[in-house]
Amino acid sequence: MQRLRNLPRRPCDADCRTRCGEIILAGVDLIPTGRFPAPVRDCFVAATDHARRVAVLASVEAVLGWDEQTMLPAAGGAHRADQAAELAAVVHRERTSAEQGERLRMLAAGPVGQAGSEDERAAVRLLLDDYEKQARTPARLVAELARVGVEAQQAWVRARSESAWHLLEPWLERMFALKRELAACRAPGLDAYDALLDDFEPGCRWRSLAGVFRELREGVGEFARRCAAASRRPDDRFLIEGAYPVDSQRTFVTAVASRIGFDFRRGRLDATAHPFCTALGPDDCRITTRWNERALPSALFGVLHEAGHGLYEQGLRRQWYGLPPGEAASLGVHESQSRLWENLVGRSLPFWRWCLPLARRAFPETLAAVSAERMGEALAAVRPSFIRVEADEVTYNLHVMLRFDLERAVVHGELAVADLPAAWNERFAADFGIRPPDDARGVLQDIHWSAGLVGYFPTYTLGNVYAAQLMAAVRRDLPDLDADVAQGHFAPLLDWLRQRVHALGRVLTPDRLIEQATGAPVSAAWLVASLRERYGPPHGL
Ligand code: ZN
Repeated sequence: MQRLRNLPRRPCDADCRTRCGEIILAGVDLIPTGRFPAPVRDCFVAATDHARRVAVLASVEAVLGWDEQTMLPAAGGAHRADQAAELAAVVHRERTSAEQGERLRMLAAGPVGQAGSEDERAAVRLLLDDYEKQARTPARLVAELARVGVEAQQAWVRARSESAWHLLEPWLERMFALKRELAACRAPGLDAYDALLDDFEPGCRWRSLAGVFRELREGVGEFARRCAAASRRPDDRFLIEGAYPVDSQRTFVTAVASRIGFDFRRGRLDATAHPFCTALGPDDCRITTRWNERALPSALFGVLHEAGHGLYEQGLRRQWYGLPPGEAASLGVHESQSRLWENLVGRSLPFWRWCLPLARRAFPETLAAVSAERMGEALAAVRPSFIRVEADEVTYNLHVMLRFDLERAVVHGELAVADLPAAWNERFAADFGIRPPDDARGVLQDIHWSAGLVGYFPTYTLGNVYAAQLMAAVRRDLPDLDADVAQGHFAPLLDWLRQRVHALGRVLTPDRLIEQATGAPVSAAWLVASLRERYGPPHGL
């Protein structure tokens, strides 16, 4: 499911000795800089204070985004667009001050950038990279992207509810044009799609990504069709046509999220049309879900997914808040954390050995006679769906690869925005053997393009790839994992993720982080093996 969040926070210009800086640093450990000469230390403290202050300012954008998705009345959209544009302009001005650029260039060439700790060197290098990218982007373009983003999302809501492509088409024309312009500003020497991708998955390039996706398609494309056509099919009717009162679901999913480690003193759960997770600050992580009184999976797996994102946010080192060592590595790594909890833990038999009694107490009418084994089998049903967020784990990545190929073609000028609906339907029929009956169940189903999230979709599948690879390494390191999970003991797993993923921030590029954590380069092989192993037997394959 979709996760909307601000891009990695970036530095600003302002005097660090202000009252505001003191508030931000309250309760936060100081970075050890004692071994540097005083002028260098002062410069480092000034630069990082600025970065933290702009992170606080940018977190106000996240508050507005959360409110927009959960609370905003339809008529409030126009004023919210004004707010978003004004705030984006202020944040951009702070991020691109010449004074901060000077500090960062000085630090990068001096003892901190050359001989500091790994965290200090990464902080300086990445703050400077971010600064230079931002400084190349005109303020007008930033404000326009913010404004068009809000207006296009409002148009998308209407277009999807009426299945009326023509209401969204002009907005997407505008958005893709702005994104191409942004790509050219941000990274002039880079391929346009790579420049956009780089914002979500640093260092990732579309040609190598296409190679990983090809390996995945070869491994599961045919397997998905065989599962869908299998004569033996898991019976999951009790899961999707049962009685699941919303109040009981809320209590149940909150208990499950707490048990896996989500800290509700530092976060909360609310309802939304399109689930997401956003961190409004180091101690304020918002997750959302939607409720369906007839079906349990929507809210349960939605919350496990978003809580997985939340565990990552809550596991970042708070003393580095607002700085690269305290930020998520990439959206792909973020998605690996949500997918790991949602699918590799939440759909496993050991998990249901622990969770089923809790679920039976919450939904006695529907689950009284269901065993953990039957639940495990029901959760392995493969059923091709028009809607990505409702897709099973086996067909899910086909949805993502379709969007990756289409958006890349639009950015590269190989496909016109006006031709997206037809291209979508044709590709969907080829991949899934069924054709979307209308655009609401086709090209209009996702909010991403209208929100300006171009280059974002591939991170969903990268998340699945990373998650399977990480879980294979977890199993190697924690031989008692299944027994622990069956007892509801999730701490060993969470500790492993905290040490090898969360605590590293974005010091390493995503591919290096995964390689360091697992001992092998990124490959789709683990995901292919995991899907075949878990989904084959319930379909007699
Ligand atoms: Zn997600």
